[in-house]
Amino acid sequence: MDRVEAVPVVINGQAGYDIRVADPGATVQDYLDAVNRFIEAAQCYRARKPEADSCFACDLCCQERIPVTLIDALNMAEGDLGRFVGEMLHVYVEGRVVDITMGLNEAGKCLCLDSSRGLCRNYGKRPLVCQTFICCPLTRDARKLREEIVNAGEDELVRKWFKIKTWNNNLIIHEAVSPRPDPGDYPRTPFAGAVSYRQVRLKDVCTPRLWKRITEKKEVF
Ligand code: SF4
Ligand code: SF4
Repeated sequence: MDRVEAVPVVINGQAGYDIRVADPGATVQDYLDAVNRFIEAAQCYRARKPEADSCFACDLCCQERIPVTLIDALNMAEGDLGRFVGEMLHVYVEGRVVDITMGLNEAGKCLCLDSSRGLCRNYGKRPLVCQTFICCPLTRDARKLREEIVNAGEDELVRKWFKIKTWNNNLIIHEAVSPRPDPGDYPRTPFAGAVSYRQVRLKDVCTPRLWKRITEKKEVF
């Protein structure tokens, strides 16, 4: 039995999924594997492309805000995190809030997208948010779990970003409104020290309430 399962469910008449965790030691990688298995099995409805039974060559979700976790950035950076953050990501600072996402081109499409083919140039290393997005219905718990993982992972990237400086000792910022970033706003997360999703336990990322629901396999829509 898999440690995490994306279980097919029907929500408002459309095929989607719920998440169940069978093993308290399950990791974020187990969650990613479960969602990838579900998507590859093509059992779900695709709201943005209802006629399709796969996402192949559809790039509609590669043109929006794509948050990036520390592990995503390490996977894609190939050893040079500073260069990667500067060239491929977008750091937006508004007051004390820092948001780090995939960079977009002038057409508003992700810098990793090959627009002529509608395919990701970095598919094998694409961010967690890309691997786990499918435009089908999700249960409230499945949505919340994804959100909590992405938020913690992005916060850890922000913690790391405070330590990456440009040649003249400035922070890398692409866009800002009254920036006042403060490292004190970004405490350690369960991603601290991890270099792989296998090293981050789902239990540590989830709120206790959500953890209880997804491990007790209670259906909450
Ligand atoms: S999940 Fe993204 S790629 Fe797949 S059909 Fe929906 S919008 Fe297109
Ligand atoms: S990284 Fe790849 S899958 Fe993710 S938004 Fe960019 S092009 Fe799309």
